[in-house]
Amino acid sequence: MDELKKYEVWFVTGSQGLYGPETLKQVAADSAVIASYLDKAPGISQRVVFKPILTTPDSIFELCSEANNSKVCVGLIIWMHTFSPAKMWIRGLSVLQKPFLHLHTQLNRDIPWGTIDMNFMNLNQSAHGDREFGFIGARLRLNRKIVVGHYQDPDILDRISVWLRAATAYNDMQGMKVARFGDNMREVAVTEGNKVSAQIDLGYSVYGFGVGDLVKYVNDVTDGEIKTLLDEYSSEYTMTKEVASSDTLKDAARIELGMEAFLKGGNFKAFTTCFEDLHGLKQLPGLAVQRLMVKGYGFGAEGDWKTAALVRSMKVMAIGLKGGTSFMEDYTYHLDPAETRVLGAHMLEICPSIALAKPAVEVHQLSIGGKADPARLVFKTATGPAINVSVIDLGNRFRMIVNKVEVVKCPDMPNLPVASVLWKPLPDLKRSAAAWILAGGAHHAGFSSSIDAEYMEDFAGMTGLEYVIIDEKCDLDSFKKELRWNEIFYLVSGSRI
Ligand code: MN
Repeated sequence: MDELKKYEVWFVTGSQGLYGPETLKQVAADSAVIASYLDKAPGISQRVVFKPILTTPDSIFELCSEANNSKVCVGLIIWMHTFSPAKMWIRGLSVLQKPFLHLHTQLNRDIPWGTIDMNFMNLNQSAHGDREFGFIGARLRLNRKIVVGHYQDPDILDRISVWLRAATAYNDMQGMKVARFGDNMREVAVTEGNKVSAQIDLGYSVYGFGVGDLVKYVNDVTDGEIKTLLDEYSSEYTMTKEVASSDTLKDAARIELGMEAFLKGGNFKAFTTCFEDLHGLKQLPGLAVQRLMVKGYGFGAEGDWKTAALVRSMKVMAIGLKGGTSFMEDYTYHLDPAETRVLGAHMLEICPSIALAKPAVEVHQLSIGGKADPARLVFKTATGPAINVSVIDLGNRFRMIVNKVEVVKCPDMPNLPVASVLWKPLPDLKRSAAAWILAGGAHHAGFSSSIDAEYMEDFAGMTGLEYVIIDEKCDLDSFKKELRWNEIFYLVSGSRI
């Protein structure tokens, strides 16, 4: 959580000069009370910074420009305590590049029936002041989250907290570098995409490297560093003596140290590997990838840079929250009509942040890739609600598909040598899979039991990503129509709104 305290959201209040200095002083004092309450609210992990009351087009423009240039400001919370003629906001909001949340609130929760007079009404008029502000957001076609209610209402704090985490991930994504070791798995379609479009729409850049660039770092790792890391493995995981003393585990440690040095040195926040591009590495990085994910790196297999970036963003949103977040793949089905289930896993690369108990390091053969048997962490996953998320490139835009799932208890699978998750997708497998496939969702996903669909919806809104949800309410006929209508919408509006 402390990691998030370095980020700020600015609490911005609009008004106008007509009220006179005394009223504006009161407006400022009231706003400071709300900003301070939000700043101290336990569920809000970022700092909430009070900003002076804005009453002119110039001051609004300056504040929005300042927010754009701030490295720590992830967005604005905007509120009209009184009336603020919204033409004043056009210039500032037109240049604002940070997300904003429109907080439609009031200092007082209740109307003071016995004492209310005209002065009170004039001071506390967000009920119509915020509608004037809302119009200009609609007129400018700006994305924003609108949160309505008294500022101390726990539900309002939850909505703000979710949005703030999404805004922090959005901020983290701007200028983010994704390292791509090797290229795409040959002939695979969905992991491809337009990297220039991604940089324009989403803000991150994908850097391709030959595996030899990584191998150089791996070869530079010292025996002393390997020894220290092997000790760490022994304390964090269970393993047999045979595995603990194996050359395979030493090689895995060497790969992890080399990869981490490479990623740190280049300031990368996410990365991809590809089992078809391993020249010079003794084994497919399994344990290394799993451990780097738990440290906060995004990951996508088979060159899947979109999922790598997505997993990173989901991990940023989830900082300090219960549960975990991982790269994921729908692997195989249990089609018993009484309980249809999806077994999610990957060849190796599932993040131990979602593990139910202490993972085991195991070494097994990998029947793909033609390399040495790789080390990997094997574990089962805690049960409860979770989401799977995919981002695909449709040519003229990116689409985010979110499916709500329920992770359920998994029977023992003594012969399955990888980490796995068993889930029941909502509304059920038939409708979920049909909708996911209709929408073009990838076989790869970002999986999280820490965050829910609301985070992803807020995040998608900030980026201009098309967002479709498959949840308990999913109706396939409506879903098909939504996809068709969205085609027209994005043709008319362009990829961003
Ligand atoms: Mn895969």
